[in-house]
Amino acid sequence: MTKWVYSFGDGKAEGSAAMRNLLGGKGANLAEMSSLGLPVPPGFTISTEVCTYFYDNGKQYPDELKAQADAALAGLEKALGMKFGDPSDPLLVSVRSGARASMPGMMDTVLNLGLNDVTVEGLAAKSGDPRFAYDSYRRFIQMYSNVVLEVDHGLFEEILEHAKDEKGYRLDTELTAEDWKAVVAQYKATVEEELGRPFPQDPQEQLWGAIGAVFGSWMNQRAIVYRRLHEIPASWGTAVNVQAMVFGNMGNDCATGVAFTRDPSTGANLFYGEFLVNAQGEDVVAGIRTPQPLTVAGKANSDDGLPAMEEVMPDVFAQLMDVRDKLEKHYRDMQDIEFTVQQNKLWMLQTRTGKRTAAAALKIAVDMVREDLITEQEAVQRVDPSALDQLLHPTLDPKAERTVIGRGLPASPGAASGKVVFTADAAEAQAGKGEAVILVRIETSPEDIHGMHAARGILTTRGGMTSHAAVVARGMGRPCVSGAGELRIDYAKKQMFAGDKVVKEGDILTIDGGTGEVMLGEVPTIQPQLSGDFAELMGWADRFRTMKVRTNAETPMDARAARKFGAEGIGLCRTEHMFFDADRIVAVREMIMASTEKGRRQALAKILPMQRQDFVELFQIMQGLPVTIRLLDPPLHEFLPHTDEEIATVAKAAGVDAEALRQRAVQLKESNPMLGHRGCRLGISYPEIYEMQARAIFEAAVEVMKKDGETVTPEVMVPLVATRKELDILKAIIDRTAKAVIEESGRKIDYLVGTMIELPRAALKAAEIAESAEFFSFGTNDLTQTTFGLSRDDSGSFLKDYQDQGILDQDPFQSLDTDGVGELIAIAAERGRSSRPDIKLGICGEHGGDPASIQFCQQVGLDYVSCSPFRVPIARLAAAQAAIAGGEAALRKTENA
Ligand code: PEP
Ligand code: MG
Repeated sequence: MTKWVYSFGDGKAEGSAAMRNLLGGKGANLAEMSSLGLPVPPGFTISTEVCTYFYDNGKQYPDELKAQADAALAGLEKALGMKFGDPSDPLLVSVRSGARASMPGMMDTVLNLGLNDVTVEGLAAKSGDPRFAYDSYRRFIQMYSNVVLEVDHGLFEEILEHAKDEKGYRLDTELTAEDWKAVVAQYKATVEEELGRPFPQDPQEQLWGAIGAVFGSWMNQRAIVYRRLHEIPASWGTAVNVQAMVFGNMGNDCATGVAFTRDPSTGANLFYGEFLVNAQGEDVVAGIRTPQPLTVAGKANSDDGLPAMEEVMPDVFAQLMDVRDKLEKHYRDMQDIEFTVQQNKLWMLQTRTGKRTAAAALKIAVDMVREDLITEQEAVQRVDPSALDQLLHPTLDPKAERTVIGRGLPASPGAASGKVVFTADAAEAQAGKGEAVILVRIETSPEDIHGMHAARGILTTRGGMTSHAAVVARGMGRPCVSGAGELRIDYAKKQMFAGDKVVKEGDILTIDGGTGEVMLGEVPTIQPQLSGDFAELMGWADRFRTMKVRTNAETPMDARAARKFGAEGIGLCRTEHMFFDADRIVAVREMIMASTEKGRRQALAKILPMQRQDFVELFQIMQGLPVTIRLLDPPLHEFLPHTDEEIATVAKAAGVDAEALRQRAVQLKESNPMLGHRGCRLGISYPEIYEMQARAIFEAAVEVMKKDGETVTPEVMVPLVATRKELDILKAIIDRTAKAVIEESGRKIDYLVGTMIELPRAALKAAEIAESAEFFSFGTNDLTQTTFGLSRDDSGSFLKDYQDQGILDQDPFQSLDTDGVGELIAIAAERGRSSRPDIKLGICGEHGGDPASIQFCQQVGLDYVSCSPFRVPIARLAAAQAAIAGGEAALRKTENA
């Protein structure tokens, strides 16, 4: 018989943390905490397999489920000596979802389940606090009606607001037992009016209604969107956790709170969290009351001056510190916990691996190695390479003028500027048009996720460091300022007020997620400084990785930046990018437009010294590291003169007639330039261009070797080759030029000649091509374009339809299509090696900086990846993780040892 239900509590559990797939994250960790002997209210988990069964079988449960759940509930009753539905001492439960991957706020929760008109009296008598009992009952009706019965939540808010207004109350806590009783009556009447039937009084009916609602919510729109954004398969399903209630709202010796075992923003080894006295779980997240800090140190960092738990509940605080210690030692990672205090006794409701900023991830990983909690290899695996982007993010220039109009919490680091929008939909729509936007909300909710994703930054006027906005923004790596309370938002007018200043939709705002400042207009930024921890982790990563990391760079500035980030050479120097400078574009145009070889040579002679100087600088910056220079690959249209003025300037420089030049421009215009006269095809038609470039490369190499005594080994790369013949013809020119420069200079030059693999034909004919090519560099931008027959420049407008309809998981220009394009790479690598076993293999398309693509590069055995300078650290870390995952790092470590 299949086991569908797993019990936990009282120092033991049927499940464990390892059973996450079956029990969901929450259920698995509740089981684990129980087994650890931590104080967990007893309960049971209905497995994710039930969810899968439910959706596979027309929303029916497996036959044995009811009996297993009944038995588990009976176990609960026995453990607590209470009965579900007992009129005098009712057992109450919470029903919560718990998916395999944490999906914060996406699924629904029902608390205080088991209350009805009779049991509420029992609870009142038992607790001696009718106010508490009726407050709990009205919360239950409100939550259950909303989540399970789908009655509009606003109706209940209205009733409550009205009740408060009538009595002249400001806070919910001012309502008396009699007041709550009246509210409960109105709530029930509303439910009956809305549904045409009364609020369910039978606890069993309530329980199965809530369980069904949790499974139902797995397919609600918010959950579907969240899964799409986080690539969580719908087939995973959610578990349901049914757990005995403990109450944080039974009086002033009760509380509820959330905490991180270390600071999730900086990673500092400090206990970090918030709690509310006499409150129930959702009150903390809802931001209705201002939470108090847990520690005295935390209090010192807040403006409110509210007393810390350490001061007001020292005994409970000591229990909590003990739990913190146990959890960190056991899980060996920073935990995000939820707890409730009932009459001075601590109860743990949840633990999970805490989300953190990149800075915190880095610090925690490095600190935990120092604390002997984890190994260096684990530290390397712990940091998400893409998240490093956050650390490399620009920050505000401290010297820049700024008009600060408000301040909130520094919820997620980085600075961002953009146009103000007040809704998630507007953020998505405007970002889709290429606008930078700042999403400004009173607070965010899971419905806003798509807008938060689209925005450059997020600003809220309500909510703390653990609010939805803060947690989600940190996870996404978006700068965020939360709880900027002095700012007031009027959604209807689409305006925000900061004192007497008005910020309208479309105005530019800058936020600094590191300080919490909100500024008018765009404030200039500066590049980040990297911490010692960063260097330490990168050092470990470098020891584990087996692939080299190079950079795509052609300017000295980029090359220097890349060296600072640890690039081990240049994998792609796009020489056409060096041709755009104002002082050389005229000569370049002259060369392209020339209709005779003589005319071209005349223009090339002007370009040669400039090109040589470019290469001298790159060789000097790279100090003997490999430098791959790609010969000209111009999309011709980008170089043609367009305006009359441009034509006149080129005509004058070339000494030709302007009208003739205009004619030539028309002649050169291609209808499909990406598949036209570009790459090596240009070298085939006009060999003198490649000859000039080869000369510039070799002369520069000689100059640097003579001046600096450095060995320079240029790698000359021929683009867009489809046939071996093309390469042979061009290689002969390169070799001939090298020979000439060697003879002229009397210096020996070691160099390699290789090719890019950017066309399917080249990949298929790799064995043949490798007989001539000493290296291959996969140009996956063009290879993706030509494999899919999908324009690099035009696909952005419709790729989203492909992603929405599940045809493609990702934009194949961002993350390698390992199935299709990847197969061509694997074929080319294998065939290339078959004819030249020591052929050097690399990648220089955009994918060279994408962690998932880097993983693939490791699998096919590339020697290096090359990416833009800012992605170099990401690539170093991703390459280390790929090597570890492939078991190759371990090998290398043993060899070293
Ligand atoms: C490529 O095609 O992947 C490549 C690196 O070349 P480019 O982007 O310059 O076409
Ligand atoms: Mg290309």
